[in-house]
Amino acid sequence: MKKTKIQRVLWLCTTVLVASATYCSVVVLLLIKVWTSYEQLILIEEERITREASNEYRLLRELHNRYGEVGSNCDNILLQAMRDAEFKAHLLHDFLYLERNSIVCSTRFGVVNKLLELEGFNISTNSSDVRFSPSSTVFSADGSPDHKEMAVAVGRFAAYLRFSESALHELNWINNGVFLVTPENVHYLFGDESIVPNRSTQDRVISWFKDGVYHSQYCRNNNLCIVIQTNVWDYLASKVFVVVFLIVGFVTLNALCVFVVSRYHTKYISLERQLLRGLNKKRVMCSYQPILNLESNQFDYLEVLCRWVNEDNEVIRPDFFIEQIEENGQSKLLTDIVFRKAVEELSGAGLIKGLKFAINFFPSDISSGLAKELIDNVLGKELESRLTVELTEREIHDVDSVISEIRRIRKSSSLVAIDDFGTGYSNLQHLEKLKVDKLKIDKSFIDGIESNTLRTKLVLIIVELAEALDLVVVAEGVETEGQLKKIKEMGIHYSQGYLHSKPLPIDELKDFIDSSKTE
Ligand code: C2E
Ligand code: CA
Repeated sequence: MKKTKIQRVLWLCTTVLVASATYCSVVVLLLIKVWTSYEQLILIEEERITREASNEYRLLRELHNRYGEVGSNCDNILLQAMRDAEFKAHLLHDFLYLERNSIVCSTRFGVVNKLLELEGFNISTNSSDVRFSPSSTVFSADGSPDHKEMAVAVGRFAAYLRFSESALHELNWINNGVFLVTPENVHYLFGDESIVPNRSTQDRVISWFKDGVYHSQYCRNNNLCIVIQTNVWDYLASKVFVVVFLIVGFVTLNALCVFVVSRYHTKYISLERQLLRGLNKKRVMCSYQPILNLESNQFDYLEVLCRWVNEDNEVIRPDFFIEQIEENGQSKLLTDIVFRKAVEELSGAGLIKGLKFAINFFPSDISSGLAKELIDNVLGKELESRLTVELTEREIHDVDSVISEIRRIRKSSSLVAIDDFGTGYSNLQHLEKLKVDKLKIDKSFIDGIESNTLRTKLVLIIVELAEALDLVVVAEGVETEGQLKKIKEMGIHYSQGYLHSKPLPIDELKDFIDSSKTE
């Protein structure tokens, strides 16, 4: 595979990986947020119930305190006291009075003749602690076992605890259970019995993933823990629409990334190769930006600016490819194409004799003699005075040969301008040596010119310097009326910028010049 192809594949793979990872993380975070909002609802509900339940244990404790310790008979007074307690209770029902493990009497059956055993409690204790039996038998009227429910006891008094009265949730993908958790023991209280809580209750809130199930455990000081299980697959199965949406989102995002990256790659990364095979007269275009003569108020001058049309037929501005041109060693070719094309188009439009024009050159074009060669061969004696050679803001390596070439160019009556003055090599020392005709003040100076800052003063100094050296001054990047007014006051000779016109193709330039003359 070619180097650029490998590079492209690597770029695409990296992008898909990064996009997928980001997408999945965001989706997981969003899902956890949704789940925790359900959890909060469950927590509120559970808390209400456990608070209510512990309030009701008080009723058992009161019975125990009044009747339990003396070992009362199950007479009417005791039964009435138990019925009063049941009346007050909401979650506890069927209050029982026990002898060892057997029911002596209950609010439902009165005194029980048959031996009904209530499993799970050690009744011999006299303590007033609340004890739980997760599944105790509930008996029917004839004394046969009916079903199992959780029972709570204090001393000899017990009752069944029915949490099912509160509809916690009806969602099949989320379960919860309440447990008393100690490092040694887990005591199920209510909810889903199959849930296995985490024993490390020092951490009050913990969450973990196991077998596709997301668990959250919330523990309070008395080791009462609520464990909430979210079954990821059940959740997704119940939300087919969400799953489809997520898959479509995933595919779209990746497709978009692949599209953008391959476009970016074509445009910038494979620029080198595209330029190497596609820098030709057909793909290089010239744009012409009119420049206003501030003395005559005429557009009698313009700058030629090149554009390159890439393999996707996009018009690329020089900022994106000039550097690559230099790296590819194609600067000479570009200058040659632009120069010949501009002269050809300006002549074809009948503008070459009426207007002066500037063309940008690389320093190497000057030092190698290319600029002079083009002036002689393409423009000739008749037109050479129309041209201004703009020296772009690049490092000059061989100052001496540039200086001698500039001298030759100026001898042939073409002019030389220093571009982007103030930003690069064009320091005062060079200015003295280079002996040019024009200075173009960089846009960055013009930008702040209205606000009387240091830049305004610098522009004034540049203008004074230019006057002393007898140089024509052009302001670049003029965008507002205020800037125009200011540069006029300063005595600058030419104004170039979007305020007047953007760079135009040759036919629009012709219309522009024609209409500016009739105004
Ligand atoms: P530059 O020589 O400083 O050219 C002026 C740049 O400023 C042009 O950008 C022009 O479109 C832009 N400009 C003009 N007025 C305004 C304005 O009011 N506001 C703003 N924001 N920008 C304005 P462009 O055409 O993209 O050219 C960029 C640079 O590429 C040129 O800067 C020049 O250094 C280089 N360049 C352009 N064409 C050629 C060429 O044919 N040969 C060489 N060697 N360099 C070129
Ligand atoms: Ca320029």
